[in-house]
Amino acid sequence: MSDDRVTVTCDDCGLAETFDALGVARAFVEEHRTETGHDPTWELPSLASGVERAGDEAGVCGRPGCTDTGSPLYQGE
Ligand SMILES: [Zn+2]
Repeated sequence: MSDDRVTVTCDDCGLAETFDALGVARAFVEEHRTETGHDPTWELPSLASGVERAGDEAGVCGRPGCTDTGSPLYQGE
């Protein structure tokens, strides 16, 4: 899938890079900030944030008490 791409842009120098992995993009942003003092922004596809939120709602720690029963993802038995 190519939907999980992260776009990093910097208005200060016209930078525009696309990354396949969130971690790589995050490291690049940090590096660019450190090296240039610019403030690049990164754009996450809406899918990624949705998945992240879903992970939170599902109770990733695995304990039943952590599960948000109000979440549409909750499957009560
Ligand atoms: Zn820059």
